Amino acid sequence: MQHDFSSLVLAQPLSRRSRQARVVWRDRVVTVGGDAPVRVQSMTNTDTVDAVGTAIQVKELALAGSELVRITVNTPEAAEQVPYIREQLDRMGIDVPLIGDFHYNGHRLLTDFPAMAQALSKYRINPGNVGKGDKKDKQFAMMIEAAVKHDKCVRIGVNWGSLDQELLVDLMDENAKRAEPWDAKQVMVQALVMSALDSAAYARELGMNPDQLIISCKVSGVQDLISVYRALAARCDYALHLGLTEAGMGTKGTVASATALGVLLQEGIGDTIRVSLTPQPGEARTQEVAVALEVLQSLGLRSFNPSVTACPGCGRTTSTTFQVLAKQIDDYLRAQMPLWKAKYPGVENMKVAVMGCIVNGPGESKHADIGISLPGTGEAPAAPVFIDGQKAMTLRGEGIANEFHQIVERYIEQRFGAH
Ligand code: SF4
Repeated sequence: MQHDFSSLVLAQPLSRRSRQARVVWRDRVVTVGGDAPVRVQSMTNTDTVDAVGTAIQVKELALAGSELVRITVNTPEAAEQVPYIREQLDRMGIDVPLIGDFHYNGHRLLTDFPAMAQALSKYRINPGNVGKGDKKDKQFAMMIEAAVKHDKCVRIGVNWGSLDQELLVDLMDENAKRAEPWDAKQVMVQALVMSALDSAAYARELGMNPDQLIISCKVSGVQDLISVYRALAARCDYALHLGLTEAGMGTKGTVASATALGVLLQEGIGDTIRVSLTPQPGEARTQEVAVALEVLQSLGLRSFNPSVTACPGCGRTTSTTFQVLAKQIDDYLRAQMPLWKAKYPGVENMKVAVMGCIVNGPGESKHADIGISLPGTGEAPAAPVFIDGQKAMTLRGEGIANEFHQIVERYIEQRFGAH
């Protein structure tokens, strides 16, 4: 029998076509957009006046994989601390670029604290919060002038929670006069996109290099975010910072962010991402970075950690052995990565499978670089191990977990170690 493959199209993310921007701290350059990898960003939730606490959290976020870290700069006291935060990071060997987040008084702070303006690598300006009436353009211009003077990148970061109300009212009035008015959501999307692009055009008039501009228009609804970013990507070639604002906590925030970002990244939209999770009590701030890395790795856009494929378990496996082993292996691989990154180049692409029974266990294990198929309920107490698609050995007895650990370590050393 002949099979027809003509309608089969393998899915892969579309390539991005945005302009490249460069965010620089000393010798460290983080390129955003163009053919650069999609970058991961995060933001601290410490009081910036607490320079030590903020520097420690920036370090944690950077070590977790955040390539750019934003800090709040909201008062003169906070602005004064920024050079010290930078200094402490430099002393700790953390060269991650710092972004200053400005609202309402950024024009004053960037003018009055030149050392802060210099210590930052990028300024986030929210056009909805730069001032009202005739002050708006003047205050926006003061911030752009600081960016030009200090040769810094700017993100024009629009947010629907602080959308320029004057622009929105103008657009609503205009819409009301249309023969067939748009619905309110279409007007909102238009207002968000216009606020960002008009501000970017004004920044360029003021001398800003287009390669130093990054745009974002964040909303908190998944479908709205997709609409806004499709419109943005169609209308400009600036590098785009992508994120679902106020995503929420836990499962809801993670799933909503991953869904929205996944759709857009697959379409080639988004050059840098942030997952805006509300930390649950006791949860590390770095969780937002972990989710962002996972989104990019799941889409095959980047590799950060070896991946562990584990089955969900079912009635065929009543023990928790394979869950425990899958967790142990996953934790172990992640914990080793800071060391392994340099020692074993390419290890981040490794695939490990930990499976619960014979139904999918051997098949899934053969697809992985190294996999183990644990015995399900009623199966013989033996766990075949597959290496590079071939059955290599069978483990038995109490020490299966330890033995499998050692086998994985040996495999990594042999395959990725320097020879
Ligand atoms: S591999 Fe076995 S234990 Fe795991 S989900 Fe499939 S049938 Fe259930």
